[in-house]
Amino acid sequence: MTERTWIVSVAVATILAGGWIAATRRGPVLLLRSAHAEPASLVPPGTVVVTASGKTFHREGCAFVHGPALRLAGAQAVADGFTPCTRCLAR
Ligand SMILES: [Zn+2]
Repeated sequence: MTERTWIVSVAVATILAGGWIAATRRGPVLLLRSAHAEPASLVPPGTVVVTASGKTFHREGCAFVHGPALRLAGAQAVADGFTPCTRCLAR
């Protein structure tokens, strides 16, 4: 086996292994409303506030809620793909 054949074999094996790892890796099933957000790590207890066109959920009275607010259970907001407001729900 020549050196070139060996290098090509290693490259093909690496690409196949990477494809297998990518194909078998399962991501989160949850579809977030914002492609740039992280899912909520903690489900907020009680009721949170969302807007129909918004992507985040907030505490009641947050200054960053614009438009008509809808009240949801925290678990429902997370299940619906809303992500926590970084202003009023930051830890
Ligand atoms: Zn907020």
